[in-house]
Amino acid sequence: MHNLIIMGPPGAGKGTQSEKIVAAYNIPHISTGDMFREAISKKTELGTKAESYIKSGALVPDEITIGLVKERLSMDDCKNGYLLDGFPRTILQAEALRDLTKEIGREVTLVINLVCDYESLAGRISQRRVCPKCGASYHLVTKKPEVEGICDNCKTPLIQREDDTMEALKTRLNAYEMKTKPLIEFYEKENLIKNIDGLQSIDDVFSDIKKALEGK
Ligand code: ADP
Ligand code: ADP
Ligand code: ZN
Repeated sequence: MHNLIIMGPPGAGKGTQSEKIVAAYNIPHISTGDMFREAISKKTELGTKAESYIKSGALVPDEITIGLVKERLSMDDCKNGYLLDGFPRTILQAEALRDLTKEIGREVTLVINLVCDYESLAGRISQRRVCPKCGASYHLVTKKPEVEGICDNCKTPLIQREDDTMEALKTRLNAYEMKTKPLIEFYEKENLIKNIDGLQSIDDVFSDIKKALEGK
């Protein structure tokens, strides 16, 4: 069973690797960032609540985020596995996740931690372009779409995320450092973490992830 979490600082490659993992293992991709962005573009109540936090690079409050994931993980399509991308991001979220997955018999089996140094993240973030429709992410140099400015999957024009500015990145890295990094120790204690070198090429990172999953 692959009940997975992928974690790492902003720009580490979580979204990029998630696309490959869910295609190879046929499990749903649960990205809280994508869920929030969709809610914002549809102007739902959740979107209205989350928008200002995301724009500035701050974390959305735990109670909003936990409720969202709880509902999603309980859905039927998660019964044969799932991939959580960008959740949990705080100890409180990790504890809530541990309790709720236990309750529904869907406990996490592996945490993939993409390790990157901070210097490389600015270049990845500033040159990232994303598809507003399907969430796919591209890079102006390392992962160009087949047609410039257009999503390979759904042909939608690519955009730059509003929080992919150097100012918001500073806030996001700070949030990562203060609130999310402690999760590494949390999952080390649970013997669930697998550290993977995120500075390798996209294909080499994925090959390491596959090896880690085959051992499971
Ligand atoms: P990144 O590419 O920086 O890792 P994500 O797409 O995962 O970004 O998240 C974008 C933003 O959405 C975050 O900066 C934060 O504001 C919000 N967000 C996403 N997931 C969470 C979470 N688990 N807890 C709180 N805020 C979240
Ligand atoms: P995250 O979801 O962790 O924020 P993304 O998967 O969106 O990160 O990747 C951030 C940017 O870096 C994107 O532009 C992506 O195309 C690019 N990228 C991802 N992985 C690699 C890699 N291994 N080598 C070079 N560029 C990468
Ligand atoms: Zn697309």
